[in-house]
Amino acid sequence: MSETRNEASMTGEGVHDPKPFTTIQPVQLSLDDKFQFRCHKGIACFNKCCENIDIMLAPYDLLRLKRRFGLTSREFIDQYTRDYQMDSHGMPGLKLRTKPDSSACIFLTPEGCSVYPDRPTACRYYALGLLHMHKAGSSSDEDSYFVVKEDHCLGHQEPQVQTVREYRKEQGLELYDEENREWRRIVLKKRSAGPAIGKPSPRSFELFFLASYDIEGFRNFAASPGFGELFEIDPELKQELMTDDVKLMHFAFRFLKQVLFGEATIPVKQEAAEKRREHYQQKLEAIEREAAERRTQEQDRLYDSLKEDS
Ligand code: SF4
Ligand code: SF4
Repeated sequence: MSETRNEASMTGEGVHDPKPFTTIQPVQLSLDDKFQFRCHKGIACFNKCCENIDIMLAPYDLLRLKRRFGLTSREFIDQYTRDYQMDSHGMPGLKLRTKPDSSACIFLTPEGCSVYPDRPTACRYYALGLLHMHKAGSSSDEDSYFVVKEDHCLGHQEPQVQTVREYRKEQGLELYDEENREWRRIVLKKRSAGPAIGKPSPRSFELFFLASYDIEGFRNFAASPGFGELFEIDPELKQELMTDDVKLMHFAFRFLKQVLFGEATIPVKQEAAEKRREHYQQKLEAIEREAAERRTQEQDRLYDSLKEDS
């Protein structure tokens, strides 16, 4: 989309839920398929698409936006986002906030999008939707695209035809998709795993939020003595993580895979791993002991009641 603002709508990959589109052309497009669309400042529907938004944020979206304002992630989250649940288990997500008493984007101005160079992924995609799929048993992902047609958007009547590849390039989406790809996989895997992975603990959700959205919070966590005791991190990498948000974000994705799926993505110190195993073993034994005691008490109660009845 050209230099205006756009609406956000992506779906399929667990990051962006579909808006209630007036019409979605149910035709899947690949990178070299063409579609007709052009958005520009002089168009009669200028700003219409940002007046009723539902925009989900991915980690790199947040990094770009908070950097634009010179805020910490936490400050940006508090001022410009709202919470939502990404799945039925309550996986925490963030959406862009709207203006007070309005469904218009908080960044919308009469001149257009006030954060245009750092607008989120979903805004860049519109009027395309992204379908991100990971087939069971496959090591690679599949992306496909579809055209989103809403009645208020006149861009589809403009005589400009381009391929999806050209459009993605023009919108800066190659970078955004690359930076967010690993996170999308995590979200998709978590969503599609269902009972195989089970409901994550509240602590897992806290860590998911920290690693996904609160980069300064995650940096403090990664710099904490407890983290250092458990994980084996190359000192050079550690140094980079303390100063480079994007590198830290990718490290946070590795951490999430370890926490949510038990993948060995960050080397664990042997001694600490042993201690943890012992700790969990002791916990497990305590739980089993308690359960056995409960069973015995229950049997005693049953036995006593039978004696009373006889
Ligand atoms: S961030 Fe910009 S492009 Fe996206 S909805 Fe808001 S005003 Fe529109
Ligand atoms: S052409 Fe579509 S995307 Fe562009 S301003 Fe109009 S409604 Fe928004």
